[in-house]
Amino acid sequence: MNYDKEMSAQLNQLRDDGNYRVFADLERVRGSFPRATRHDGGGTCEVTVWCSNDYLGMGQHPDVIGAMKTAIERCGAGAGGTRNISGTNHYHVELEAELADLHGKEAALIFTSGYVSNWASLGTLASRLPGCVVLSDAGNHASMIEGIRHSRAEKHVFKHNDPEDLNRKLAEIAPERPKIVAFESVYSMDGDIGPIAEFCDVAEAHGAMTYLDEVHAVGLYGPRGGGIAEREGLMHRLDVIEGTLGKAFGVMGGYIAASKTICDFVRSFASGFIFTTALPPSVAAGALASIRHLKTSNTERLAQRERVAILRRRLDEQAIPYMANESHIVPVIVGDPVKCKWITDWLLENAGIYVQPINYPTVPKGTERLRITPSPMHTDEDIDALVNALSELWSQCALARAVA
Ligand SMILES: *Cc1c(COP(=O)(O)O)cnc(C)c1O
Repeated sequence: MNYDKEMSAQLNQLRDDGNYRVFADLERVRGSFPRATRHDGGGTCEVTVWCSNDYLGMGQHPDVIGAMKTAIERCGAGAGGTRNISGTNHYHVELEAELADLHGKEAALIFTSGYVSNWASLGTLASRLPGCVVLSDAGNHASMIEGIRHSRAEKHVFKHNDPEDLNRKLAEIAPERPKIVAFESVYSMDGDIGPIAEFCDVAEAHGAMTYLDEVHAVGLYGPRGGGIAEREGLMHRLDVIEGTLGKAFGVMGGYIAASKTICDFVRSFASGFIFTTALPPSVAAGALASIRHLKTSNTERLAQRERVAILRRRLDEQAIPYMANESHIVPVIVGDPVKCKWITDWLLENAGIYVQPINYPTVPKGTERLRITPSPMHTDEDIDALVNALSELWSQCALARAVA
């Protein structure tokens, strides 16, 4: 085989489909979020970032940066090993205790990313519980899908956010078999929220374990930032709550919070936990500071909510259509990959506005979109600049306006 030719052909196909990913080369500027310096062909310019998952700007928070600096001064750069072989730093232990407390669980376990936490935890639970069947929401994230696939357990996909379909599918499985129901709270791309209580009712009726991905909700919802399950008083009904330290908490890493036995089980059997270097102590220290701050401060959450409401109102005024949802995510649908890319290129080149186009396979074909994430730091002027530029583009590209 001509390897190079084969790979180039597949890449060209991706380009022709408008799905080829081009990274923006950014330098974040400490304390200036959402501003960043963009590097392009030798030159630089300032851009306003509208698509960050650092939802509350905690990656720039003085407490977080201070904690990371102190940890580097005290402990140095890396953890120096896997968790088992010299890599468990006291910051990791404190962080796990903090996360267990955040979710009202006995224990927590940290991983190098949210992706790894889903992949390793679901992969381990589903492969090690004899005869396990996994019930997976149709909208689940790639990390859960890959974890389930890796487990080689029998899998059934139920309709997105549909407890009745889950109930039907569970009813067809032999009652004595172990079952895991895996779903999310806030879905990243549509910003819709899962019916957690109903899912727990159905799972309980069939004796199934519940596994909830709260990646897009931790830090953002609930009185202490424990997520949608905290807000709705449901944390105790979930067997596993999974989250990330890389989105609203602004740092990096992933985790599960669960019973002592579940955490010990994953800790003891998950290859993706065991055979990898522990997070740098500074990263754990930063996450710890971020979680502690958001446990007691509502300021960031309230400001974000207010910014989201203002952006939606301004989009309404210009009749720019976006998907309605109950979360902080504002998906503006373009519905065509080439136009979507063209619009975001135009925004970057002409308005200093950076929104990454979201195309297939991240979202279904025909629903290509701009996924806009307002933060507490976006000003009225930022919102005006974004909405005015979009309005101009909507006219230029003859895109459909919203019907009042
Ligand atoms: C981003 C994401 C993850 C992975 O989290 P990382 O910490 O970024 O690896 C897991 N689940 C969902 C739903 C996500 O959107």
